[in-house]
Amino acid sequence: MARPWNFAAGPSVMPEEVLQQAAAEMLDWHGSGMSVMEMSHRGSEFIQIYTEAEADLRELLGVPADYAILFMQGGATAENAIVPLNLLGRMAQPKADFVVTGIWSVKSHQECQRYGDAHIAASNAAPTVIDGVQQQPFTWVPALDTWQVRKDAAYLHLCSNETIGGVETMAWPDMASLGAPEVPLVVDASSHFLSRPFRVEQTGMIFAGAQKNAGPAGLTIVIVRRDLIGHALPICPSAFDYANVAAQQSMFNTPPTYAIYMAGLVFKWLKKLGGLEKIEQLNIAKAQALYGFFEQSEFYRLPVHGSARSRMNAPFFLPNAALDTDFLQGAQARGLMQLKGHKSVGGMRASIYNAMPLEGVLTLIDYLKDFETAHG
Ligand SMILES: *Cc1c(COP(=O)(O)O)cnc(C)c1O
Repeated sequence: MARPWNFAAGPSVMPEEVLQQAAAEMLDWHGSGMSVMEMSHRGSEFIQIYTEAEADLRELLGVPADYAILFMQGGATAENAIVPLNLLGRMAQPKADFVVTGIWSVKSHQECQRYGDAHIAASNAAPTVIDGVQQQPFTWVPALDTWQVRKDAAYLHLCSNETIGGVETMAWPDMASLGAPEVPLVVDASSHFLSRPFRVEQTGMIFAGAQKNAGPAGLTIVIVRRDLIGHALPICPSAFDYANVAAQQSMFNTPPTYAIYMAGLVFKWLKKLGGLEKIEQLNIAKAQALYGFFEQSEFYRLPVHGSARSRMNAPFFLPNAALDTDFLQGAQARGLMQLKGHKSVGGMRASIYNAMPLEGVLTLIDYLKDFETAHG
């Protein structure tokens, strides 16, 4: 059975090998006679799964020992509250700064306002002109030398890949060069987590919902420097206090066991493939093929400035929205699924996460060419 090519933004395509392994182990994990989802989270079998997943992730990303890795729930949306609830208490005044690059960072900023003074350090929310070309909101990354970070902020929030707008911040700031060396950088990396190496030690914290690039929905991965733990506001729910979660190896309450197992298989798949440098090369090749095609086309239009195009999420427009339905139907007939853009942006979006092979991208490009020939 040929599987269709799934370009969904999330939940999204999984590596086929991982799905096959999970299927083979579904009824009986390693002779235990149990499915992983039937196991006690405190039993030796699951502890082994958990420990390997944590160690594999630490190795893949090069997470230093002074950072805790937490497997939590609630998605990146819950982290928009959990982060301020844990970090704002570090400073005498509850203040945090935000770089707005798209809809997800807007939401993070809004949620933080419920708990403290949330300030916008830089934003792309108004139209601008770059190199003489008009840019719509949320289609570029504000230049680093324009970010105005308060020295006494508890943290600076950055969404390093805006999934909806398709805007990726490739170079993460060095906080000293922003004049705020003591302010930890907090990164929502949900939709390009494990797509390339990250310099974890440049950040105070990285979080990611698993369902974009690391596994199934239900698991949120939090990597946090240990000195930032232990300052939760009194109103922080105990299950969301990083100190509790870290002290209990993510088992303060029942963790999302099956999602941790699946993410663990994805980590092993990445290690076998050659790690994050290798997956980055593959992701660059896919993104270059797709954007290279769009750039030479007179038919399709790319909204995002060339300097900020995401390797994971590529929004694009047809010349005329009246063609959208035909485009999507024709795509589906060729097994190219879930290309409709987010409702707030319109048009189309192709998400080409780690698990999307180059072959899927080339099949999409063939269809894009044929559609252009038929309608151009
Ligand atoms: C999907 C996404 C979110 C929200 O994730 P949920 O799991 O729905 O809470 C937040 N930030 C980014 C960058 C995302 O891609």
